[in-house]
Amino acid sequence: MKIAVVGETRPGERRVALVPGLVSRLADVVAEVAVESGAGAAAGFSDEDYRQAGATVAADALHGAGVVLSVQPIPEHRIGELAPGAITISFLPVAQELDLVRALRDGGHTALAMELVPRTSRAQAMDALSSQSFVAGYRAAVVAAEKLPRFLPLSMTASGTIRPATVLVLGAGVAGLQAIATSRRLGAVVRAYDVRAASAEEVRSLGAEFVELELPTLEGAGGYAREMTEERSRRQRELLAPHVADADVLITTAAVPGRTAPVLVTAEMVAAMRPGSVVVDLAAESGGNVEGAKPGEEVTVDGVLVWGGANVPSQVPGQASQLYSTNVVNLLLHLRSGDEIAPDFDDEIVAGCCVTHAGEVRHEPTRALLA
Ligand code: NAD
Repeated sequence: MKIAVVGETRPGERRVALVPGLVSRLADVVAEVAVESGAGAAAGFSDEDYRQAGATVAADALHGAGVVLSVQPIPEHRIGELAPGAITISFLPVAQELDLVRALRDGGHTALAMELVPRTSRAQAMDALSSQSFVAGYRAAVVAAEKLPRFLPLSMTASGTIRPATVLVLGAGVAGLQAIATSRRLGAVVRAYDVRAASAEEVRSLGAEFVELELPTLEGAGGYAREMTEERSRRQRELLAPHVADADVLITTAAVPGRTAPVLVTAEMVAAMRPGSVVVDLAAESGGNVEGAKPGEEVTVDGVLVWGGANVPSQVPGQASQLYSTNVVNLLLHLRSGDEIAPDFDDEIVAGCCVTHAGEVRHEPTRALLA
């Protein structure tokens, strides 16, 4: 079987679905790895790197490929180029891509969505949501440090002592924990809050202070957060306001699966921060945790810089690609049967991430959206 790696064309996407260093891991299961010319360039990998790794590089890499790898979903206008029954593996935000899902279904293709891989221990090595959140969390802390016009660490010099900056992280999941760890390494005093009970211990284990609010925890299915009621939301904002006002840096990462991101911080709360403070909203693309944050933009609210994240993992393209590629290769090896790639659609990982197969939409929520 031939596997193709597609060049990304969506604006701002710099990652690539397979890095040269992982081509050899597929040697036992595929006859050829074909990469579109220039596919890795924005992530720092040249065509020559792929050739040396044993891949072929061609403009028509897609031709005859049984499996097609990309980060963003394959563009709808390229569906006609897929071989009959080809398997596509990429992120596929189904609710925003219904026309593409229909086209994949009608073309008889198997579409596997990386964000739908079940987040179980068994599938941990294929969890691209976590790997990319990890990158985004790191980047959030680095952006904040760069934008903040002051030191992060405590500095004692002959010319005096500089107090450390205070970083407040709201949402201590995968991205939040990495933002905490990175801010700590940069020497900041870090505080964090999350609605999940388990998060307090995780925050403390990184040397940060967990902000205790007089509010119940809020956990839903699978250990994820639940949506807040309006009353809870108002109360949480009220209790967080003094912590926000006291922070030099605010990093927000809160998300609730399948919902718009909760608004945790109002424009009034931002305005109460000291001028020169920095806000990094990693949830800006999914509605925003901070009122006024705009994805891909920097805005200033009463002297406070508000940075809205847009495809943040893509801002660290080499390593984000390396981690994503590892997730994809692990999924591919999981699909293997003998020396073939032959998915078992009864397997819980395959069933979980399969959106279309054999002319049907297999993912129940997407089927409901299309009905
Ligand atoms: P996420 O991106 O969906 O959300 C980010 C964080 O925002 C979460 O920690 C959530 O609790 C928090 N949040 C939601 N509403 C909030 C609010 N109103 N105020 C403050 N915080 C709020 O989550 P994620 O980072 O992808 O994962 C969350 C958790 O899921 C992990 O910490 C872990 O427990 C679990 N998980 C398990 C696996 C696995 O078993 N393989 C993998 C990844 C994550």
